[in-house]
Amino acid sequence: MVVEGARRMQPADSSVVLTRCEDYQPENVGEAVSAALGLLGGAGKFARKGQSVFIKVNAVTASDPATAIVTHPEVTRAVITEFQRLTDRVTVGDSPGGPFTPALLKRVYEKTGLARVAAETGADLGLDTATVDLRLPQGKMLKRLTLCRSMVEADVLVSVCKFKTHRFLNITGPIKNLYGSVPGLTKFVYHSRFEDDRQFADLIVDVHLAAKPSLNIVDAVEIIDGDGSRHGSIRKMKAVGSSADAFALESQLLEMAGLEPSDDKPLAAAIARGVCPSGTGWFETLGEDPAGLAVGEFRLPGKNLFSERMPARIAGRFSRALAVTPRPLPEKCSGCGMCAGICPREAITMRQGLAVVDSSKCIRCFCCDELCEQQAIGLKVPLLMRLKRS
Ligand code: SF4
Ligand code: SF4
Repeated sequence: MVVEGARRMQPADSSVVLTRCEDYQPENVGEAVSAALGLLGGAGKFARKGQSVFIKVNAVTASDPATAIVTHPEVTRAVITEFQRLTDRVTVGDSPGGPFTPALLKRVYEKTGLARVAAETGADLGLDTATVDLRLPQGKMLKRLTLCRSMVEADVLVSVCKFKTHRFLNITGPIKNLYGSVPGLTKFVYHSRFEDDRQFADLIVDVHLAAKPSLNIVDAVEIIDGDGSRHGSIRKMKAVGSSADAFALESQLLEMAGLEPSDDKPLAAAIARGVCPSGTGWFETLGEDPAGLAVGEFRLPGKNLFSERMPARIAGRFSRALAVTPRPLPEKCSGCGMCAGICPREAITMRQGLAVVDSSKCIRCFCCDELCEQQAIGLKVPLLMRLKRS
């Protein structure tokens, strides 16, 4: 069956709420999430009694929450609790990178703490691997899209994301979190069609608009800057944010990180096609003063010698030797083959049980790095770039 986008209505309010949250102590997180929702009108503004609610977290890979790569389970617990006041039909889950199978979902949910939180709260775990094809007349990159059925068909979709750097798009946050509604390996099939970072950013916007989250919440208690999920640094923003409008929420977070809209490729794509204005003047920010939650010297991923902000595809054309590339580490590689299976350019082959990258094919999306559970993908940084950095 092919349907047109998710059928949900989305609240028109673009207000952003920020609340301070010092750490992941359950009581602190519970207070912060409750206040973040309360100032928007409460969970009842987004869901009616008895409706089905799908809470889509960031569980992109089987990572310990202490790494700050995935949504912290205490934030998820607090969001579940808010919606369980209205309905007992609450499901939590994600579609991680890799095969969209119950076996992978269960492993990721265990490692990320989601399984424990679901068991303790009585929420259902998202184990449905059915998909649905959507017609997307307004799509810029795709007019037809496959998404996870459980997220599309829920009455209410709540996105609970992290805010961190991303080696291909610079930033991943409220907008990109919905790319996780593309099932498993289909993510990489789409990625292989849009290798250019600007095209891929436009696809991210298409997916977000198709998925239509009702509410966006960000776990920005701990965020990641620098060289992306696996190689970056954990920073403390001590914030929980919420908004019905992911573009407003992402704009606000960006300002708090001292970045420009052009630094965030999905947001820049959304601005360029008129989905939202640039800056933060077009919405109201309630709750905590953003200035009090700002983090100084937030670092974007280093990409190449020419400019930390130049797209890899441009610098790469001048010289692949001057761009950062993935380098499998033989001492850590278990030979599982996951990276070879997901690489959108088929640039990875397995030789004698170890991953080997053909850098002439590599587009430096670093999906291999993000999904390698052994953290066996290192960064090969050109000598001149290392000297420039030091
Ligand atoms: S680099 Fe990582 S994902 Fe790739 S084969 Fe080795 S352990 Fe598996
Ligand atoms: S080798 Fe890694 S960084 Fe290069 S294209 Fe494949 S997944 Fe992307």
